[in-house]
Amino acid sequence: MNRDEFENLIALIDDLSQEQRDLLRKALEGENDFEHVVSIIESRLAAKRECAHCHSGNVKKWGKSRGLQRYRCYDCGKTFNSLTDSPLAFLRKKDRWLKMASSLKEGLSVRKTAARCGVSVSTAFRWRHRFLRAAASDKPVKLEGIAEADETYFLESFKGHRQLPRPSRKRGGKAKKRGLSSEQIPVLVARDRQGAVIDAVLQDQSKAAVKKVLSGRLGRDNILCIDGGNALWGFVNDEEIPFKLILADKHVHEKDSIFHIQNVNGYHHRLKSWMVRFNGVATKYLPNYLGWRRVYERPHAVLTPTAWIQAALGRYQHLM
Ligand SMILES: [Zn+2]
Repeated sequence: MNRDEFENLIALIDDLSQEQRDLLRKALEGENDFEHVVSIIESRLAAKRECAHCHSGNVKKWGKSRGLQRYRCYDCGKTFNSLTDSPLAFLRKKDRWLKMASSLKEGLSVRKTAARCGVSVSTAFRWRHRFLRAAASDKPVKLEGIAEADETYFLESFKGHRQLPRPSRKRGGKAKKRGLSSEQIPVLVARDRQGAVIDAVLQDQSKAAVKKVLSGRLGRDNILCIDGGNALWGFVNDEEIPFKLILADKHVHEKDSIFHIQNVNGYHHRLKSWMVRFNGVATKYLPNYLGWRRVYERPHAVLTPTAWIQAALGRYQHLM
């Protein structure tokens, strides 16, 4: 953290409530991992305490359970805690969550994650996907100014399926057919020049599939750089989005070099190189891995284990 950021942090202390001060003190005093994780979780409700079920503010403290303060709502009568409506609800062993977060930060394999956290491989795998759930769905509402979009392809993986629809491939194998085939899963990445990224696994290579992902997130105030593939071409024409066509073998617009798809192609490249370590991921989990990569790619991301837990709780802005 640089000096300006630190001075800002100190200045913010004046605005803390008593409860927030207590949580901050606990976090600074470096108590054990369990209490630290509890203080991260409890900070979710420290700023604004409302019912996890009906959002009423008419709530009262109602004992403790598994280290967490429990509350009861006067309006709907239900009880809840700071984890209730989060992707991490009902996960056990909170004393290991900081280690889980550091494994995500380092991009560890599931086996190494299991070893670090002292849990089984299946638990590490389940935790990974719970921790990534919020990141997977957190995408910018709109891209700004000049943006780029292009598709890339991942080899379909049936990893984790008991009954394979075809004989299993050796790790890192190649598609049987050359070029595009049903074994290739299309992934669309759109990115603006500020670094905001919208990515998604496409149902197929149709215009409709692209619309489902990008509709409403680009408009007439954008200029979208594309390489002329049918689906994106159809999308920009239907939605009347200004665009620049980049010839597939050029990567840069012939007349004006400000228009190119080099950022998005660079993103594809980093995404693929980073995913090599996972030895092929099941298609149904691919959106979570896209979200994981997107976290690293955020401009000015703070990637501390605490920030990863906050993000997993659905407080993504903490990684900004
Ligand atoms: Zn309620």
